[in-house]
Amino acid sequence: MTSPSGIAISDLNKAFGDTHVLKDISLEIAPGERVVVIGPSGTGKSTLLRSLNFLDRPDSGTIRVGDLSVDAAKASRGDILALRRRTSFVFQNYALFANKTARENITQALITVQGKSTADANARADAILRETGLADKANSYPAALSGGQQQRVGIGRAMALDADLMLFDEPTSALDPEWVGEVLDLMRRVAEKRQTMLIVTHEMQFAREIADRIIFMDGGHIVEQGPPSQLLEAPQDPRTKAFLRRVV
Ligand code: ADP
Ligand code: MG
Repeated sequence: MTSPSGIAISDLNKAFGDTHVLKDISLEIAPGERVVVIGPSGTGKSTLLRSLNFLDRPDSGTIRVGDLSVDAAKASRGDILALRRRTSFVFQNYALFANKTARENITQALITVQGKSTADANARADAILRETGLADKANSYPAALSGGQQQRVGIGRAMALDADLMLFDEPTSALDPEWVGEVLDLMRRVAEKRQTMLIVTHEMQFAREIADRIIFMDGGHIVEQGPPSQLLEAPQDPRTKAFLRRVV
């Protein structure tokens, strides 16, 4: 028997107090698949991504990444760390450490989560900094970088982890328009490597170009999903149609 690959999320639920945000979300993602999630604000897109990494702890459901399967209701600290080793997260507001250089922002998790030596982590970080076009910024602190450069460090930090699944939560929403292009270009390069990606974005042209599949979420449910041509050109559900009329 071959070991399972890809990602499988089953019946994921998450509430904040009385607010039931994720309602029985089930979703499979094939290895190398690029999935984009769209939907109105407040609908649970961030909560879905954050739940997969236990940045928000889901209440119930299972998350399987490759041969690691985690029952959310019973997840131990070890399960959560194992899941975090297989997933990486790119935040809307970059979430860089202000008191660390670009290189140190990338090496931090390599050393603390992956247990790499400082020398190995530095070598990996320098390769990533070259790949993201930031070799000359290795020793710069976030405050000395543009928004686009900061987010490229954020993406580089996630790339360095070699995760089975990269999660992107509106990675360009906080950027001045002039920096959006360079960040989307870097994401395109990540996608070309057949990295498995789950991306929340409002950049519809980018989604159309990059996504193997687009998921429309509303009210904590997956309402509709399909390849971009189908979901964007021929949406079936009235909620999808109404949303697309507003954003496209
Ligand atoms: P989206 O990313 O689609 O805009 P979110 O996942 O951020 O939506 O939020 C979904 C719902 O969950 C919203 O009603 C939001 O107010 C609520 N929510 C999100 N995070 C928290 C939290 N930490 N505490 C309480 N409520 C939250
Ligand atoms: Mg959000």
